[in-house]
Order: sequence, then C-alpha cells, then structure tokens
Amino acid sequence: MNPATSVIQTLRPRILERRTRLQAAAGSVSADYVHNLLAEVDAALERIDNGSYGLCETCHDPIEADRLEGNPLIRFCLDHLSREERRAHEQDLELATEIQAKLLPPSNIALKDWETHYRYQPVGAVGGDYCELIAASDGQSLFFAVGDVAGKGVAASLLMTHLSAIFRSLLSLDLPLTEVVSRANRLFCESTASAHYATLVCGRATEDGAELCNAGHCRPLVLRPEATERLDATGLPLGLFCSGRYTVSHVRLGEGDSLILYSDGITEAQDSEDREYGEPRLIGALRSYMHQGARAMAESVLRDVAGFRGARPPHDDMTLLIIRRHS
Ligand SMILES: [Zn+2]
Repeated sequence: MNPATSVIQTLRPRILERRTRLQAAAGSVSADYVHNLLAEVDAALERIDNGSYGLCETCHDPIEADRLEGNPLIRFCLDHLSREERRAHEQDLELATEIQAKLLPPSNIALKDWETHYRYQPVGAVGGDYCELIAASDGQSLFFAVGDVAGKGVAASLLMTHLSAIFRSLLSLDLPLTEVVSRANRLFCESTASAHYATLVCGRATEDGAELCNAGHCRPLVLRPEATERLDATGLPLGLFCSGRYTVSHVRLGEGDSLILYSDGITEAQDSEDREYGEPRLIGALRSYMHQGARAMAESVLRDVAGFRGARPPHDDMTLLIIRRHS
C-alpha cells in the first residue's frame, strides 16, 4: 500500500519547488552535482505519476512517512538502506539524541515549597514528548510543561526542540501564562507545516498552588490525601489554528498535594491482549505510592506500567512529571 495520498499531495509541490531552485542554481553550482540531483528529482516526480512513490525499492513496503517528509527523494525503507546511508542515518540519530538530552531539564528541581521529579522515556533514540521545568530567577515560582508532538522519530524530536526554544524565549519576557501559550501557538503555527501540532499542559507553580493551561493534552491530575481531581483541557492543541485562544485555570495545592502531568504513552500503554493501562489504573498506582517522595512515586508508577505491558514493547514515548508540595 502506498503512503497516504495526502502525504504525496503535500510533497509533490515541495519537490517541484526544489526542481525550480535546482535549475536556477545550475549555472553557478558544480554542474555534475546539479545534474545528478535534477535526475533524482525527476525520478521522484515520475514515481508519483506512476504510483510507485514512497515504496521501498527493495521490499515494496511503504517508506516511513516522517523520513519522506524530511527527504522526499529517498527510495528505501529503514531496513534497506545502503551501508553508507545507514551510517549517515545513525549519525543523525546520535546528534538528535545529544541535542535532545541537552534540552531536558535537570531531573530534580527543588524550591522552597515544591519538590519535583520527572521521567522521560522515548520509545526510540529520540522522543517527541516535551518536558520542561524552569525555576524563576527569584526562586519563587516554577514553570512546568509536558507536551506531545504529533509524529515519531527524528522529525518529531526536532519539532519538540523547536517548541522548547519557543517556550524558553517567551518565558524570558515575563508574560502572563495565557499570553505565553497564545504566542507559542502562533509561532508554532507560523513555523511548522500544517500537519504538525502538539498537545501540551503548562503552568506555573507559585505560593499556594498552580496556574495551568491545557492545550488539548491529557488531563493533569491533582492528588490530595482525600481525593483525586482531573483537570480538563481548556484549549486546542498548539499549531492547529494561529488564532487559538487559551484560558488559564488556578488550582490550589495544599501541603502534601501533588500535581501530575503525563503523556498518553503511559495511559495508552497496552498489555498482550490489547488492553490499555488507562487513567483509572494510573490514578490507582499514583495513590498507592503518594506517600513516597516525588522520585520514588514516579519510579514506582513507571514500574507498574512496565509490569502491565509485560512482554509487549512500548509504542509511544512516556513522560511523567510530578510536582509535589512539601508536607
Ligand atoms: Zn524495504
């Protein structure tokens, strides 16, 4: 089966545009190189016309869509790259992993009132989840975010790094949270292809609780000694519409209460019989470990998810962030 026609429809004009640029460059760039590339571009256009575009020339299976989007001229799936191509792909992955590792926040940030811990488990070498923790310079408040960029692999991880850069620049401007998210949405919209979006929950923990904005992400949870609260989404995912509006809600957090942010790789983890881990089980696991510190709690919950999954490999990135108010 061919890759989705929609993917091909968006790639065709891009290939044509590159062809025009190549021809324009033909006079000034080394001729052999340009001619070879032109031939490759024309071959790709021909494959679109005859219906074989996007299929691996060795096994005839569809080539990974995110790789085609990154390079519309590729002709082989990941399993059938030449040794040279494979080496280049591995180098790209290593670099992406390195870039991503540098962007992740320190795993334990402790403030006067708050203790935090997060776990970030990408399913491959790099992840499309976004996790952020930044303490304000005065040490009084803490910005946090957990997001999930649509797609997988290097393409998703690059979008994640893009999102991270957008938030870090906006946070330096000291804006109200609604403004941070609205501007992040506009910037993300304007700078990515239309098929790309990200769900996200972000907020600031201050003296007596947290303000939160949920852009289409799975519901954050508030664990109190007596009950668990679920906080609904208040806005659309980032990157869908430039004019998206975002509202902020305030949640009080008392001593010993915890705010839990996570990505759907946790709740949608499946066991060998296709059953999902699910929100109720997540709440159950969190509650049974809620008397431990944030780190032990996160570790115990992820152990529970791994136990539930059994032999089944993870199919999506998992992020779990716990922000706990000292008791
Ligand atoms: Zn193949």
